[in-house]
Amino acid sequence: MDTMTDLSHIEGIIWDLDDTLYTVTPALKTSMRESMARAVVKMGYDISFEEALRLSEESQEKYRLTFKILSDMFDIQKTDLHIPFHAEMDHTVTTICPDLPSAFASHPHMKHSLMTHASRDWALRMLDHMGIADFFDPKAVIGLEDIDYEHKHESDRATKTCLDLIGMDAHKAAFAEDRDWNLTIPHEMGLTTILIDHPSQPRELPTHVHHRFDNATHFMNSLSSAETLKDVG
Ligand SMILES: [Mg+2]
Repeated sequence: MDTMTDLSHIEGIIWDLDDTLYTVTPALKTSMRESMARAVVKMGYDISFEEALRLSEESQEKYRLTFKILSDMFDIQKTDLHIPFHAEMDHTVTTICPDLPSAFASHPHMKHSLMTHASRDWALRMLDHMGIADFFDPKAVIGLEDIDYEHKHESDRATKTCLDLIGMDAHKAAFAEDRDWNLTIPHEMGLTTILIDHPSQPRELPTHVHHRFDNATHFMNSLSSAETLKDVG
């Protein structure tokens, strides 16, 4: 992180989930391929689980997308797979950060919202699994299905919706993400942009990224304790 980080103006945070609040591990990628196969079988398409799994593995290897071969084969819309696929995901194979709940607890007045390109159900399960669900109003946690599948880099809807849900002015909010392109629109809107480091990201900080941290806990621990004093006086 930069040495001159002043985050004392931040009163609310919009979080990404995958690779921001926890790290996507090879075990979770295995679970994704199995989830895709189970979802397609449960949706009633004429294929065995074993064959669907083989095709989702091939699809991930060829296209880096577990759904592509199966959705092409059966003409399934990606939006129709979104909820069934995430419902099958196994949150127990994720590796969570044991220090995250105490980092959240040390900023009791911070308001939190979460927007994921995954489903809302997956986000709520993961927040519970990570031990930080109590810091979020469940209504301020949204999935891609809640904003008509408009991605964060495509429109301001995700950011606007999350700001509204926590009643926060853009200039008092931070947006924390592991992919820099999802921070372009929040930056234009006046939010403080936080990049949680990921191997896919450029070493040189793009101009639309204000600060970079190794992980979510480091970011939380770098926030000023000023908000804890707001009750005083
Ligand atoms: Mg992410």
